[in-house]
Amino acid sequence: MASSLEPRRSEAAVDRLWSPWRHAYVTRDERTAGGCVFCDVDTPAAQALVLHTGRLAFVILNLYPYNGGHAMVVPKRHVEVARLTRLTEMALEEVYAPQGMNIGLNLGRPAGAGVVDHVHVHLVPRWNGDTNFMPVIGEVRVLPETLDTTAARVRPVLARLVAEQGAPR
Ligand SMILES: [Zn+2]
Repeated sequence: MASSLEPRRSEAAVDRLWSPWRHAYVTRDERTAGGCVFCDVDTPAAQALVLHTGRLAFVILNLYPYNGGHAMVVPKRHVEVARLTRLTEMALEEVYAPQGMNIGLNLGRPAGAGVVDHVHVHLVPRWNGDTNFMPVIGEVRVLPETLDTTAARVRPVLARLVAEQGAPR
């Protein structure tokens, strides 16, 4: 039963499921330690994950994704989120052809929000069986590709969809 493939239990992995964004950036970029990671999106570490910057909102990969392709639509203020959420959904569908997708908000820390003061929409592609024994028993996510690869795949598709749709009215 047990084998070398068995995931090791890890506090970091558990933390990642519940406060994915904040934990990553507080440890990776000290500049954000006292501020808001979404307001500080111009840092190089964050820009490496940005898929698209709109006029009023941006699309960014979650540094500790729940699944491959885990993206977030974050308003610079509040307005452009619905449009970019739809286009990001279309881009993730095209790139990953998932069998389902979780799209939603974690409002407040008890609901799992890692960044509590800056609303953001999560998009998580889902496949049948992707919550199998690995995360349940091992508390570890096994992701098939690096974030650099995910960004490189999704960015051009999202750019094309945004261009096809035209500027927001
Ligand atoms: Zn902010």
